[in-house]
Amino acid sequence: MDLIMGGPGRYIQGPGALSRLNQYTERWSKKPLVLATANGRKRVEQYVSSAAVHALFGGECSEEEVERLVGVFRASGCDSVLGIGGGKCLDAAKAVAFRAGVPVGIVPTSAATDAPCSAVSIMYSPDGVMERVVRYPESPRMVLVDTAVVSRAPVRLLVSGMGDALATYFEARACAASGAVNEFGGGPSASCLALAKLCYEILITDGPAAKAEAEGGQPGAAVERIIEANTYLSGVGFESGGIAGSHAVHNALTALPQTHHLYHGEKVAFGVQVQLTLEGASEYDTVRSFCKQVGLPTSFADLGLPNPTQEQLRLVAEKTAADTMQNMPFPVTADMIYDALVKVGA
Ligand SMILES: [Zn+2]
Repeated sequence: MDLIMGGPGRYIQGPGALSRLNQYTERWSKKPLVLATANGRKRVEQYVSSAAVHALFGGECSEEEVERLVGVFRASGCDSVLGIGGGKCLDAAKAVAFRAGVPVGIVPTSAATDAPCSAVSIMYSPDGVMERVVRYPESPRMVLVDTAVVSRAPVRLLVSGMGDALATYFEARACAASGAVNEFGGGPSASCLALAKLCYEILITDGPAAKAEAEGGQPGAAVERIIEANTYLSGVGFESGGIAGSHAVHNALTALPQTHHLYHGEKVAFGVQVQLTLEGASEYDTVRSFCKQVGLPTSFADLGLPNPTQEQLRLVAEKTAADTMQNMPFPVTADMIYDALVKVGA
């Protein structure tokens, strides 16, 4: 199997980076279609080319919305797409750019997930039910993160991004050991594993300080490093490293409506603890105390399930076993997952 590693053409991060957007895009984007919410548009309007055409994002990355926006693109005479906003807006921008055959630039307004750097969109129904994952042959041409903008987003989003990033190293390590393929259909390279490990080290070293800085409204060096870990290291790490047990638990938890108030990374962080339990990994205690320190879920009560029934746990265990838990380097049964869920959550 070939090793395959991918990522955005350029990754740009810094306070005020948005004000330099035009200088980073003018080489490949003379007339962008800017996709954003009304708020996002206000934020960015003064920094994009005056030739840009603005399109309002309707709120859901659905087939209907993407087709509508492709129509807007075709009528606009634009040569590229710039998505500015949260995950669904960015996913819609990738989908429109792919269908129109033009490059896409991504400007996330929070560090809640590792989606910005990836060549992936998650498609939803018009009323918000996840339908499918679409993979594109090209990664975004550019990802630009203005850390002054991102650090004004709610602190819980930054912490949730840490939860998503927490899985990166352990899932890449598991895929490397099992021979599972990454998002590009190849094996994880040594470079990818090094980035994934760095992602974990930055979280443990800087995570609690970053949370304190963000809460105090004084984003500093720790917030900068955590934004890079959440966005770039986690993004490249999951896409080139592969996913395994932690995201399998996340996906299974979504079957319980009680967990729907949680963000993606919050459920993933619980999944990390379950994966490490199954592995008997030496990092378990460190990860658990990290989660407690920054406020990621470490119990069933934290997941909105103070007294889960056997049926609920059995459902989660079975769904987990049938998911990317199969990328672990040893066979994992639903019974083993059930016991690990109880050990972590009870
Ligand atoms: Zn994730």
